[in-house]
Amino acid sequence: MKWIYDLSYEMLKTEFAGANLKKFTTDQVFQWLYFKNIQDVNLWSNISKTDRQFLESNYNTSLIGVVRATGDEHGTRKFLLELHDKLRIEAVLIPEKHHFTFCISTQAGCPLACRFCATGLLGFKRNLTAGEIISQILVLKNEIRYYTGKLNIVLMGMGEPLLNYENLEQALKIMTSAKAMNISPRNITISTSGILEPLKRFEKTFPRVKISFSLNASDDLMRETLMPISKKEKLADILDYFRDTKLDRIHRITFEYVLLKGVNDSTQDARKVAALLRGIPCKINVIPYNRNESLPFKTPSEQEVNAFADYLHEKGYTVIVRWSKGKEIRSACGQLAGEE
Ligand code: SF4
Repeated sequence: MKWIYDLSYEMLKTEFAGANLKKFTTDQVFQWLYFKNIQDVNLWSNISKTDRQFLESNYNTSLIGVVRATGDEHGTRKFLLELHDKLRIEAVLIPEKHHFTFCISTQAGCPLACRFCATGLLGFKRNLTAGEIISQILVLKNEIRYYTGKLNIVLMGMGEPLLNYENLEQALKIMTSAKAMNISPRNITISTSGILEPLKRFEKTFPRVKISFSLNASDDLMRETLMPISKKEKLADILDYFRDTKLDRIHRITFEYVLLKGVNDSTQDARKVAALLRGIPCKINVIPYNRNESLPFKTPSEQEVNAFADYLHEKGYTVIVRWSKGKEIRSACGQLAGEE
């Protein structure tokens, strides 16, 4: 039996035509699955009983399973989810002042092995299918079933999204399609370590989706040490690309900078970051490192964090300090799955 979430609109339409289902059945099924978020085929009331029986016997409409969920006093909830082959991934639901943010994974584990990242410790298991990416959103939406306001989707969980390009693209089409989830691309962000060729292709295909780039270092050598991908994908090439294409972009690039005590948090580092990003319309998220027992890094003090952020601010950058929400529930990338 096929898992329905892995089938694109076009694939489903072809299959339904082959089975002599009515022309508009694909639209109806998409509405039930992605807009109304109802998995029980028997409740799809505008589809005939015979067609429902066909759908039920040919397609699996169950979502991926929740192994457990943990929450903190701010309402942030982290979900450990199990895929059909028993691999486990994470998704996080974060209540904000005026909306909810869903943090979604694109790979089980991650091949990039950034030194400060719990997911990096897990190694790479496999790419998630489009259905597994989409299914995380549906699981989280079920948690806030009666909420109809704005959702922010950040593809910032486990994995490097641009290394799972085809499935990412199919999932984004379902997120943004008016026939499916109908989420504005402006409310979607992909976070990348900077894989240049797929990044260029991505921005051409999805010009309104926001890009968040994991910088995390003030020079090449430091970045190559912290993020081994940087030996292959040179920081200068990526920054030149952002600078050269700034007029084509309708949003500013977000630079993520995980602040590691005594490693990349000095005033000299802040000075080098200010120089590196000159000429790129951007904002900078300074993220004090969220301590993990398995990793050797430490969290800088509030004073050190503020000094770093203030320096960049004085140089004219928009800077937001993001203390990790949900430290109590281990919401840094990979921590919950790592414990399993
Ligand atoms: S920080 Fe992101 S890219 Fe780096 S290892 Fe972790 S999940 Fe992978």
